[in-house]
Amino acid sequence: MLFILAMWSCNSAQTPTATTPTLQNTVPSTYWQQHVDYKMDIDMDVNTYQYKGKQTLVYTNNSPDVLNRVFYHLFFNAFQPGSEMDVRSRTIADPDGRVKDRISKLEPNEIGYIKVNSLTQNGVALRHETVGTILEVKLAKPIQPGESVTFDMNFEGQVPVQIRRAGRNNKEGVALSMAQWYPKLAEYDFEGWHADPYIGREFFGVWGDFDVKITIDKNYVLGGTGYLQNPNEIGYGYETGVVNRPNTDKLTWHFVAPMVHDFTWGADPDYIHDTMQVPNGPLLHFFYKNTLSANKKENWKNIQSKAVELMQFYSEHIGAYPYKQYSVIQGGDGGMEYAMCTLISGEGAFNGLFGVIAHEMAHTWFQFLLANNESKHPWMDEGFTEYHGELAECAIFNKSFDIPTKRVYDVYYNYVKSGKEQPQTTHADRFNYNQASSISAYYKGYVFLSQLGYIIGEDNLKTTIKKYFEDFKFKHPVPNDIIRTAEKVSGLELEWYQTDWTQTTNTIDYSVKTIESNNITLERVGLMPMPIDVTVTYTDGKTEDFYIPLQMMRGEKPTTATLIKDWAWAYPTYTFTAKKAVKNVEIDPKNLMADINKDNNKK
Ligand SMILES: [Zn+2]
Repeated sequence: MLFILAMWSCNSAQTPTATTPTLQNTVPSTYWQQHVDYKMDIDMDVNTYQYKGKQTLVYTNNSPDVLNRVFYHLFFNAFQPGSEMDVRSRTIADPDGRVKDRISKLEPNEIGYIKVNSLTQNGVALRHETVGTILEVKLAKPIQPGESVTFDMNFEGQVPVQIRRAGRNNKEGVALSMAQWYPKLAEYDFEGWHADPYIGREFFGVWGDFDVKITIDKNYVLGGTGYLQNPNEIGYGYETGVVNRPNTDKLTWHFVAPMVHDFTWGADPDYIHDTMQVPNGPLLHFFYKNTLSANKKENWKNIQSKAVELMQFYSEHIGAYPYKQYSVIQGGDGGMEYAMCTLISGEGAFNGLFGVIAHEMAHTWFQFLLANNESKHPWMDEGFTEYHGELAECAIFNKSFDIPTKRVYDVYYNYVKSGKEQPQTTHADRFNYNQASSISAYYKGYVFLSQLGYIIGEDNLKTTIKKYFEDFKFKHPVPNDIIRTAEKVSGLELEWYQTDWTQTTNTIDYSVKTIESNNITLERVGLMPMPIDVTVTYTDGKTEDFYIPLQMMRGEKPTTATLIKDWAWAYPTYTFTAKKAVKNVEIDPKNLMADINKDNNKK
């Protein structure tokens, strides 16, 4: 069997991966990123679901540009009748079942909003305008390259009835799921401002440090981003010694989160709070409702040791988890990834609960630490997360990885056949169909990695993932960064792969055209180039694996197959001669190449 064609299996995934060779850092020498330091003081009224906030934001302009304005996201404004999210959901052919027309029916005391009451720059009042989910701010004085300025803001908000991701009183009865709840500075990078309106999905934020004080009814238990600074004033399972709560109606929870790009929390008076330590890793926190049935609470107990295994798997196979804490919080409408935590539905069966945690925890690496722009390149986080979530699940439950892989490839093939495919470079909000957006991100993104293993070799893929994490953690990688990392690890030229797979809807289709005595002719039917693994069975019953390098790769993957001459892409056919009489021929017998027509792969 060809070395590269060995299918990923749980066992192979558990074997120690190759150590990263000394390769130069892939981060471009011109790379820069902005920096934020947030201090927030929040006062929540759990009866009206309204809150008041003070925010001090020290913003450092590390760009080479002079900035004349800034933008903040006011995500909660999406949950208002007539918002872009509402109208898009009511006009797209296949709306998200959780949204549909629900926003259009929200009453004034059920909508979400964030109102900015005052904003200053270094003490000088600023002109600002709320335009949907974006606050447009004209600066009093431009921010020079290298300069830090302080924005002071007073704001108030109302938590919407939970429609999507965040909100109050979700369908499982969790009081507060507080994601995308504060005025959040938009990211400015080498492409300029990313002041995307909140329409359908996905986020992008500025890296920095958060110091957040939340004052809330004393009976509420909180979990989320950041380390609690006053555990013995709070208790509720956080205490490190004797609990000494102030005798007040509200408690102030003080959290600090270093080097994150978001801050999320959940709160409920009925949360059970369990913890479990990952050996040589973070302390895991679990928050779930005491009102769950006994069976469901049992699931939450049993899942904890599995969450430890997941944390260990990802830390070993991608890179060490860098924070001291990670929290799994009942509070979502499915599952959504955030800084140091996830909000998930909590009433599913054990397997469902495991699957969601496996996926959301993997997002800590793909999107949280490797903080790609989710609006522009959601496949870089959803696809890579799905892939590693499946790898982890197979390893932990000793299942074969080829089963999920086949399922994922099949979804991609059906997507191609549907005629609804749009290039992966399409903005996540601008697909014609929600389903197309999801398949492009989750499934075609998964196949991107799986197929990259076919192209560069399985060990090279493992090394690529680790080096990609090492070089780009706490940054904003773009598609070129994963490809350049793979190029440096493998020594192969791969720009064609990024271009065709992510920027076009070109498809792969190779066929066995003719077998004439010992002469085998293959044909490239699809537009997309690929190197070819081919297995020949001789009339004596013996088999031989051949490897045909793609000429534009300027090299070969490590392989034990018989290496034959390159195939230059423009030539539609390729002929080679076997040593003995040929019985049959099969292209890519392990099905790692996403060839949309398998029927012509064999003769
Ligand atoms: Zn995801």
